[in-house]
Amino acid sequence: MTKEDKKHVNLDHARQAHQIAVMKKIVADNKCPFCVENLMQYHTNPILKESEHWILTENLAPYDGVKKHYLLISKKHCTGFWELSPEAQVNLFEMFNHVRIDDAMAGGTIVMRWGDTGYNGATVTHLHAQLIFGASREEGGEKILTALGYKSKKL
Ligand SMILES: [Zn+2]
Repeated sequence: MTKEDKKHVNLDHARQAHQIAVMKKIVADNKCPFCVENLMQYHTNPILKESEHWILTENLAPYDGVKKHYLLISKKHCTGFWELSPEAQVNLFEMFNHVRIDDAMAGGTIVMRWGDTGYNGATVTHLHAQLIFGASREEGGEKILTALGYKSKKL
């Protein structure tokens, strides 16, 4: 893939067959899949909550083994949180309060990548945060794994 092909999504980081199929269509269409005007063309999960700045939904391609995997997608097309207004930055944390958390989700993780997907392991360039809920260690055993970037060879 060329850098231009990776403008909106990075197929190198796709994990699931149906995700790869959708991403190939996104590359062919040359559209940002998380921009509001395109989102429902590629994302088939319902919007759970919407604010002036963010859309809450469930991930179309949850990480292997998760119980719940939510996305908060910026309504502004950008790749870094510094490109957001202070109001939008604060609103992200307010939107976390709208995630339905039950007793089986006693702990979780927030992941937010930014910038060049060649550095951070993201599949979608458009800024988004992920809320991930797995099982307890006793229930699940194996760790949920995801890429956070690439190790430097200059240690
Ligand atoms: Zn976008």
